[in-house]
Amino acid sequence: MKFVVLVADGMGDWPVEELGGKTPLHAAATPVMDRLARHGVAGLCRTVPAGMAPGSDVANMALLGFDPARHHTGRGPIEAAAQGIEAGDDDLIWRMNLVTVDGFGPDGIMRDYSAGHIATPEAASLIAALKQRLDDEHFVMHPGVQYRHLLVQRGAADGPAARLAPRPPHDILDRPIAPDLAEYAKAPALDRLVAEAARLLSGLPQNAARANAVWPWGQGRPLRLPRFQDAFGMAGAVISAVDLIKGLGRASDMRVLDVPGATGLLDTNYAGKVAAALDFLGHGDFIFVHLEGPDECGHGGNARDKTEAIRRFDALVAAPMVNALWDAGAVFLVTCDHLTPTALRTHHADPVPFLLAWKGCTAPSNLPAFTEETAASTGVVVEPGHDLLRWALRQVRGT
Ligand SMILES: [Zn+2]
Repeated sequence: MKFVVLVADGMGDWPVEELGGKTPLHAAATPVMDRLARHGVAGLCRTVPAGMAPGSDVANMALLGFDPARHHTGRGPIEAAAQGIEAGDDDLIWRMNLVTVDGFGPDGIMRDYSAGHIATPEAASLIAALKQRLDDEHFVMHPGVQYRHLLVQRGAADGPAARLAPRPPHDILDRPIAPDLAEYAKAPALDRLVAEAARLLSGLPQNAARANAVWPWGQGRPLRLPRFQDAFGMAGAVISAVDLIKGLGRASDMRVLDVPGATGLLDTNYAGKVAAALDFLGHGDFIFVHLEGPDECGHGGNARDKTEAIRRFDALVAAPMVNALWDAGAVFLVTCDHLTPTALRTHHADPVPFLLAWKGCTAPSNLPAFTEETAASTGVVVEPGHDLLRWALRQVRGT
């Protein structure tokens, strides 16, 4: 059996006035997903366990079949796994954004969680300059992609820094940063590091971007996951532009397929992702294709761009995958990890719509289209979310 999971990050939404009261998924032309919804089973899935933050890390871990309540240690550790960064069990790994703030102090405001979507080479130069001044026996910075970097705090997994709760910067756009600075202040060494980084960044001559602070968050011990193949009996691979998906793949010993030009934005290399997925399925069993674009549009609050991102997901990813594999009996699970409502501009933990379709489905939902509303109308709810993959395998096998 070939099993295809297509994830449009943050695709789920609420009705938007600008779209005539439709959600972006409803407003977008999605003939392929609509056809799958006629021939398959749709429903809702609670990807975010109660009490956990609705992050992509938590939700995608659940979609891959691993219980976040059991395995999730933080976002930083997942991304460290993606980069193959070795860390000891008592180290604390932070995700560290380059951000734009209006004033790094008690009156400061978070303006941009991505420092203007800073380009990777420019970011690398800034992080290199920070490393030179700030890396020591306690802290090591690791440059990543665009605004997404990592900070390893040695031996801190049982110290005060482990319990801090600075908010993800994309959750506090245009809001005061004072509560988060108060968090950092509880761990003096970290507090000194973030203050010094902000001071250095404003003074760097090569800093033409809007990166004027670092923002550590999502910390935890190194991630350890079971092997995907042992858990599900399928040889699997993941494809994504973003590190956290690669980290989940690496930590569960899946193949991580790198696609040049996968940007995480609307202009990503769709054809490259599809080609890599089809190539892998020539021998492998399970492919997890992740598209970040809809989520980025949701954070930007742009319903029309989000609608376009979903249209492209359907036309440029779902269509060629279905065309190539439907007749051969492949199974398609199409969903999103969490909602990113454009009205909210951040993630929401409500259950996500999903559809499961394959050629031999004998009791299809017969839906006219795939939307949040039609998926909810079937009454199918898969909960907890990490059961979705096992639930899907049971449907397909008729057990
Ligand atoms: Zn997400």
